[in-house]
Amino acid sequence: MDLFSCLSPFVFCSFASGSSGNCYFVGVDNEGLLIDAGISATHIKKGLQQIGVPVSGIKAILLTHDHVDHVRGLEVFAKSNGISIYAHEECVDALLHGPYPIHLPSSCFHVLEMLEPIELSGIAIEPFPVSHDGHGTVGYHLSYQGASLTIATDVGELDPVVEHFLELGQSIVIESNYDDEMLWKGNYPYPLKKRIASSKGHLSNLEASRFVMKHYENGYKNVMFCHLSENNNTPEVAMQCFYRQLRLNRLKPSPDVAVFPLPRHKCTGLIHL
Ligand SMILES: [Zn+2]
Ligand SMILES: [Zn+2]
Repeated sequence: MDLFSCLSPFVFCSFASGSSGNCYFVGVDNEGLLIDAGISATHIKKGLQQIGVPVSGIKAILLTHDHVDHVRGLEVFAKSNGISIYAHEECVDALLHGPYPIHLPSSCFHVLEMLEPIELSGIAIEPFPVSHDGHGTVGYHLSYQGASLTIATDVGELDPVVEHFLELGQSIVIESNYDDEMLWKGNYPYPLKKRIASSKGHLSNLEASRFVMKHYENGYKNVMFCHLSENNNTPEVAMQCFYRQLRLNRLKPSPDVAVFPLPRHKCTGLIHL
């Protein structure tokens, strides 16, 4: 058996992650789904090209919520390529009838029910509710042939539902938005600081790393820190927080668990799940 035949065909790629835009690919054999379309259609196409997936291989776009950093390229990319969009009803409603309505026919949208699994491109998908100040914010648990991935971006707090799905994923994408000190000592207006740190805002490095500690020895395959703030975090600070938590919990870094932050703008390449 050669090395490549051991790799799972279920793959993940991040094209962008953070407050300036979010877009992930999840798929099998040159075909699959986009999670969010928060970057320009051109940037999405460039990302797909980099991983050798044709635009025609995108069977659907799943949205986590309606904030602009998750839907910026949605209209152009979905319209020009005739791609269906799946999202929670409140998210669809906000996109079609909110203050900045998207110019797509409502027939492009498919409504997802919380905790009701669907299947697209052979991938089982379960949306779950996430506490955040977007409309109909969800996370996704995705699985294919025994491999699984949980995506929880824009998470105000780790409530029992989010924790359950993050425990379930063999690989996880978990928000690690800000460093407490950088946020509170930084120059954001106080109400914005409060919003970010609230239970409807974002998850801190400390909250994300502490959660990972609780399950680290159960054997995650990939732990990917996502949605890092440009002003209140850096990849190095997020990883320092993680290593500090490992030390505090007397845990050793495991060679079997890949832990890394997702870059803000760069494509990660394909990650086998
Ligand atoms: Zn966001
Ligand atoms: Zn958001």
